[in-house]
Amino acid sequence: MTPAAYAVVDTEALRHNLAVVRRSAPGSKVMAVIKANGYGHGLLRVAQALREADAFAVARVPEGIALREAGFIQRIAVLQGFIDDAELAAHVRYGLEPVIYSFGQIYRLERAPLAQPLLPWLKLDSGMNRLGVSKDEFPICLRHLQRCPWVRQPVGLMSHLSRADIPADTVTTEQIALFRQTIAYLEGEASFANSAGILAWPDTHADWVRPGIMLYGVSPFAGRSGEQEGLKPVMTLRSRLIAAKWINKGESVGYGGDWIAPRETRLGTASIGYGDGYPRHLANGTPVLIRGQRASLVGRVSMDMISLDLTDCPDARVGDAITLWGEGLPVEEIAGYANTIPYTLLCNLTQRVRILEPGESF
Ligand SMILES: *Cc1c(COP(=O)(O)O)cnc(C)c1O
Repeated sequence: MTPAAYAVVDTEALRHNLAVVRRSAPGSKVMAVIKANGYGHGLLRVAQALREADAFAVARVPEGIALREAGFIQRIAVLQGFIDDAELAAHVRYGLEPVIYSFGQIYRLERAPLAQPLLPWLKLDSGMNRLGVSKDEFPICLRHLQRCPWVRQPVGLMSHLSRADIPADTVTTEQIALFRQTIAYLEGEASFANSAGILAWPDTHADWVRPGIMLYGVSPFAGRSGEQEGLKPVMTLRSRLIAAKWINKGESVGYGGDWIAPRETRLGTASIGYGDGYPRHLANGTPVLIRGQRASLVGRVSMDMISLDLTDCPDARVGDAITLWGEGLPVEEIAGYANTIPYTLLCNLTQRVRILEPGESF
């Protein structure tokens, strides 16, 4: 029995994309960002494929613990660090490197001796106004960390870009200047660039780059595809056709009858829906691939099913595989039909979507 909806994750493509990162930022070490279940591709599968990366970055403590429990011994940065004693203790116990962005974290760290030294990354808010201490607070925070006997030295120096996907943006130029100025003459290793920084802003590369989306074969730039950056798509989302029939011109399809057949239509039903993470707000006309040909989504996406106009794909048969995005159908293009960015499509696959490697049996 084959699963109705499954995602094929091409681990070879992951490795290819890591090589593109290294070519794009030849002087930097690579911290592979594998938060949110490896951008929906499966945390451990992605970590295994990218084990040659110099370090991993995750968003939250449980993601770091999962990596350790699976036996990964690489350095792991936790981008949201700790906010209570339990999370601090987990950093120590599992050898995780917290990002520090508040005095509260520093006081917590100073309060009690740790069983083992901890290596933190101090984060500067260089303009995004999300996480990070201000440029004025930065030297004070750093001094606290330098004086703390159970903090390993030198502390890492981090910041994050907010608009690097916009070409020649002056805010990015200002962020670069501020980060540079703040960390000038400091000893620690610096990390700044996300995927957009890696590809478009060489001045942001520093000691460590932090690629996320580009590892998964997706361009961080609106209107560009991963292929144009030399990347290979990693995830292909597939389903299959479970029914097909002809309907008359004027008949309506799906909940609310939103789509009305403009002609006699061969209508297909495929087994995938928003319960799998295929977005409900995808527009009529969103392409899918069947037997290498494009067919289009018609009517509303249901929880477990979608309807397709197969009139122009006369060879399509019940049981055929359908590609929703990935190989031959860039996820960037589908994101446009959903009025969102590819990141959300990849991350939002639900538990029931099986993740397989090419050639892996069901
Ligand atoms: C998610 C994230 C990244 C990776 O961003 P991409 O745009 O996916 O390359 C890097 N740094 C931080 C702090 C992040 O939160």
